[in-house]
Amino acid sequence: MLEIPKMAAEYFPYKSVRPFQDEFIQAVYGTVSEGKSILIEGSNGLGKTVSALSACLPVAKERNLRILYLAKTHRQHDRVIEELEAISRKQPVSGISIRGRSEMCLHPFVLRHARDTRSVMEICRLLRARKECPYYAKIEEEFNSCAELLYELSNETLKASEILKICKSQGFCPYEFTKLMLEEVDVIALSYLYIFDPLIRSVFFKKLETPMERFILIVDEAHNLPDTAIEIASDELSLFTIRQGEREAKEQGYEDAVVFCKKLHKIVERIAESVKDEAQLPPKFFLDLLKTKADVSQPLTFFEELLSLGEIIRHNLLAKGKYPRSYIRRIAEFFIKWMETSEDPSFTHVISKYQTKAGKTSAKLEIVALDPAKITEPVFSTVYASVVMSGTLEPLEAYMQVTSMPEQTVLHAVSSPFPREHILALVCRGVTTAMQKRTDEMYRKLALRIAEVARFTPANVGVFTASFDVLEGILAAGVEDLIEKPLFCERKGMRSKDNEQLIKRFKDYSKRGGAVLLGVQGGRSSEGVDYPGDSMNAVVIVGVPYAEPTPRVKSQVRYYESRFPGKGREYGYILPALKKASQAAGRPIRTLDDKGAIIFLDYRFATIYCQRFLPNWIRRNIKTLPDEDGRIAKELILFFGFPTTSHN
Ligand code: SF4
Repeated sequence: MLEIPKMAAEYFPYKSVRPFQDEFIQAVYGTVSEGKSILIEGSNGLGKTVSALSACLPVAKERNLRILYLAKTHRQHDRVIEELEAISRKQPVSGISIRGRSEMCLHPFVLRHARDTRSVMEICRLLRARKECPYYAKIEEEFNSCAELLYELSNETLKASEILKICKSQGFCPYEFTKLMLEEVDVIALSYLYIFDPLIRSVFFKKLETPMERFILIVDEAHNLPDTAIEIASDELSLFTIRQGEREAKEQGYEDAVVFCKKLHKIVERIAESVKDEAQLPPKFFLDLLKTKADVSQPLTFFEELLSLGEIIRHNLLAKGKYPRSYIRRIAEFFIKWMETSEDPSFTHVISKYQTKAGKTSAKLEIVALDPAKITEPVFSTVYASVVMSGTLEPLEAYMQVTSMPEQTVLHAVSSPFPREHILALVCRGVTTAMQKRTDEMYRKLALRIAEVARFTPANVGVFTASFDVLEGILAAGVEDLIEKPLFCERKGMRSKDNEQLIKRFKDYSKRGGAVLLGVQGGRSSEGVDYPGDSMNAVVIVGVPYAEPTPRVKSQVRYYESRFPGKGREYGYILPALKKASQAAGRPIRTLDDKGAIIFLDYRFATIYCQRFLPNWIRRNIKTLPDEDGRIAKELILFFGFPTTSHN
């Protein structure tokens, strides 16, 4: 019988533990107290946040360490502070959640022009250097009252929104004030970028007084980390940016830059004409084109000069009270990186087509990073210990290899806390979205199976397809007419606000007989949104969401094959698809009280090969059905009982 280690129990704030929560706490405490890292899978509903904090805090306090808790959303950061507050009733602990400068800034100029993290950081730097920020100045001018406030708050647990409110009333820059607080508190909850983006990290740690080696790192929802790392290390340059660069150079009177942008635009446009969706673009070949067609004989010198020009433009714009963005600088930065990565096998260079917001087709150059470890390894190898956790991390060895966690990292999958009778997991034979079998007949069959699920599920059903093509195929097969519940459909390129509205309306039907939400795996509706209780009783996974074999996917497979012989296809192609399917499949089961059915409409999920990538709480329940009408209905009736509700 497991129990919480004594030291961790002193911090655990609740009267009782949930099933297997003690296993989680024991594994984390045991590992971190030995100064080692742990990669741990634990399903939703386990209480991972409070468990990780209770296990790490005694180690941190005893060894004079501090904790960085990384999570993706503000809601998750606030949750950390709420759990810390509960802990603080037992033990003295302090902590804050922090947000980016754009959200913690009071300067009207930044608020009006805020775009992305990096540009806000740069504008702030310029404003401070020119002594044009009164909120920053006030911290220096009234340092005594600022220090007093800091002292008062240093033992508290505060959300970023609370710090913002306090600073607003005092006229202090909330961002700078938060930075001062960082030196004092035990736990800091923040987004991945602060730690994994090398540029942001170096600025962040400059103010932190404590070196990275003195931190325990907790990474929540860590299944997101490899993709985030790839995004951080990648870059892109669109035709739009090049055109804006030309306009900017014209306005500022830099004729050479105007000519270059014009020629560059033409070169990219010409290549794009012969590209369908995406094509590999050897970096040297493109640099040669710049030499011959755009007269760039010394590329590095040319782009460094362009970079300085962009810097001058930014200063001039700010002097005129305008937003100091420079497209010229962006272009120069991109090509310097293009050259730096041109012989690095962990990058591939492509030209791709995309749809603009107005629905037009445009093109962009991309530097695609292939190795998440280039971003994650420097962090994992420096911190005191890492706790990397999520509900969908298996196979753990693959995750550990791909992110280059330290060799002695402990791998642990916590047993599922969900009662077996709360989960029904079915795989249907006779259906698939495999490319060569996507016929009208197959889409009709898929639509009929979806209708069967909708008919025999008490309230809401989520249907997540392998791609938008499959989603369209199912719609064309008449799924809307076959189901007897209202249908809410996610569309390609839908704005996040519209998507949120769609989900809200769908959820509202949970008390009115239910509805069906049709979306894609890996999309906005199938990741990061919870559907507790009746807001989703059943989820249908239509097909395995394998990526199209684009040049970047092929490069990814080749790259992993070179790093991990024999594993290239698995790591670069199979795993990302099954990760999306697992995320979507877990939507209806978020708390220990939830009861949900998961129906996989693709016979490939019946193979042991596919199933070993699914979380263990799904895997252990899975049942394969023969290709017969009415078989799903039979199982759903046994699970939910006869449907009695009707929608209005
Ligand atoms: S110092 Fe603070 S208030 Fe001033 S611009 Fe920077 S973030 Fe904004």
